[in-house]
Amino acid sequence: MSVNPFKMAQEQIEIVAKQIDLDPNITEFLKNVERALIVSIPIIMDDGSIKIFEGYRVHHTTIKGPGKGGIRFSPEVNLDEVKALATWMTWKSSLLNLPLGGAKGGVCCDPSQLSMKEIQRITRRYTAEIINIIGPDIDVPAPDVNTNAQIMSWIMDTYSMQKGRTIPAVVTGKPIEIGGSVGRGPATGRGLYFVLQALCEKMELDLKDLSIVVQGFGNVGGTIAELLFERGCKILAISDITGGIYCEEGLDIKELAEWRDNGKYLDSYSGDKIKHISNDSLLTSKCDVLIPAAIENQITSDNADKINCKIVLEGANGPTTPEADEILNKKEITVVPDILANAGGVCVSYFEYVQDTNSYFWNLERINKELEKIIVSAFEKVWEVSKEKKVSLRLAAYIIAVSRIAKAIELRGFYP
Ligand code: GLU
Repeated sequence: MSVNPFKMAQEQIEIVAKQIDLDPNITEFLKNVERALIVSIPIIMDDGSIKIFEGYRVHHTTIKGPGKGGIRFSPEVNLDEVKALATWMTWKSSLLNLPLGGAKGGVCCDPSQLSMKEIQRITRRYTAEIINIIGPDIDVPAPDVNTNAQIMSWIMDTYSMQKGRTIPAVVTGKPIEIGGSVGRGPATGRGLYFVLQALCEKMELDLKDLSIVVQGFGNVGGTIAELLFERGCKILAISDITGGIYCEEGLDIKELAEWRDNGKYLDSYSGDKIKHISNDSLLTSKCDVLIPAAIENQITSDNADKINCKIVLEGANGPTTPEADEILNKKEITVVPDILANAGGVCVSYFEYVQDTNSYFWNLERINKELEKIIVSAFEKVWEVSKEKKVSLRLAAYIIAVSRIAKAIELRGFYP
């Protein structure tokens, strides 16, 4: 059963509030978003007709600094989803101790039905509509589901044209040629890898012996699958929007990545011993590590009982509902929560922002080293709190993240 993601985000705050005895006023404050803008985006389509799209940008908190979070283009986007995603960004940045707030944006559209020119017009008009609440000191967008470096370029260009000067730090995830950072593209997947490596050490598992199932073959799922494949892991199954494929002996991820990069989908891939499977049977396939790396609401009370793995590593935001989370805990499956596991993206986004504002750029070695240092130290802290308080990694991560924000609110006080 699918759950309203914002209700889910609010429920998570209540659970952690109880644990840390949070002031009820602060709890209530955190269950709401600071501001939410709904915009109408009229677009002249290629055929001359005019279509209106709806867009959103939400700031959950800017207590610690500018809002930070991606923009997604999807027919399923709605205000509550964006509010939830903005809330999760607050916890993610806080957990990594980044001086940023939580924000998110979205445009309700189906990019597969639009031309590049139409996508460009939507991006530019959306940027113009939200221009008063974004900016290097206010809120810095980034890529998310169905958005990419090219779309970030158009946002940067529109913003810069309106302001009369080039302002690269208004978005992250840009192409390197215009102020992007090396290593930002694969950063979320690389972060997942560093976290899994650190977890394996704690659980005394050999990473290369693990069997893996990945839901999603985009920026996040594709990168983590490739990194684990290179490390020698057996990738049993992977999926894209057309469904999943499974191979008992392990899939050749390099070959599959080429297939995808040639614009082809997994439903047309065939090979010896390759089985085509549904999304649901992919999620319940027996493996050591299940990596949901697509969208929210994938592991629910309907299928949690059938999940058959040792570790769930959350590549997506909000892939597990609270009810499902309880079931996984009872089954003693170790769940590495989204706000820790997939925080590599926002971490390198922060590096990009720092580089842009300083006009001084780092090399890949420095990016990956600093990413590993920050994400592994967040993991260590989460592990420590989870052992100390005998709680799940998710609750431990929330305890750390929410406590830091609560302390900042307490110190700043409520205005006026
Ligand atoms: N969309 C990514 C996330 O959910 C990255 C956000 C960012 O880099 O600001 O974490």
